[in-house]
Amino acid sequence: KWFRETDLEEGLKRNIERCKYVKPTPVQRHAIPIAGAGRDLMACAQTGSGKTAAFCFPIISGILKGRSASSFPPSPRGAAVAYPTALILSPTRELSCQIRDEAAKFAHQTGVKVVVVYGGAAISQQLRLLERGVDILVATPGRLVDIVERERVSLMRIKYLVLDEADRMLDMGFEHQIRKIVQQMHMPPPGVRQTLLTELIVQKIELVQDTDKRKLLIDHL
Ligand code: AMP
Repeated sequence: KWFRETDLEEGLKRNIERCKYVKPTPVQRHAIPIAGAGRDLMACAQTGSGKTAAFCFPIISGILKGRSASSFPPSPRGAAVAYPTALILSPTRELSCQIRDEAAKFAHQTGVKVVVVYGGAAISQQLRLLERGVDILVATPGRLVDIVERERVSLMRIKYLVLDEADRMLDMGFEHQIRKIVQQMHMPPPGVRQTLLTELIVQKIELVQDTDKRKLLIDHL
């Protein structure tokens, strides 16, 4: 009932129903309306809290609504350079693949394409997948920098940026790569690009929604 009454796009709502999500988790109940309204968000929630859906739903919904308003055309197949609309950075291959699986489940039959790239595996197959078009790119930072340097992905059209487990990415020494990635993004006026940051460290769910925090985040990076 809750999901049915939100302002999420219809195709996505059908997938949510098909997956039998009836009741939002606390992080979803707080984050979905904020992110859906196009505001930046910093959410701290543990694994198992439903945080993946909390950031995937507004992104998928936003891409589909943008598509019907013709503001984001579908990502073309066979292009030399891929232009994703959303970028989800995560620290590990396992976590990236879990996010891809969750996003793909909810993007089912909507035409929204999800691709994952990570280090420690052959790059050639990942590049081939990118050639088929990508709307939501899930990536570990090092591999993404490599692919951007090969000019196979452009971050100029990123409208949604998620730093999942940002604290762990910083602990793992990805700060330099994250800075490089953020520099590659076209910097639209405040409020146009959304940044969704989820962290593990804080046990209780705490949501912050304002431009000062966003500035703090950018300064931190
Ligand atoms: P996460 O915290 O994103 O790793 O999600 C933990 C698990 O909860 C995943 O298996 C999700 O598919 C599931 N899940 C997330 N949100 C809901 C929901 N609203 N209703 C039922 N299951 C959910």
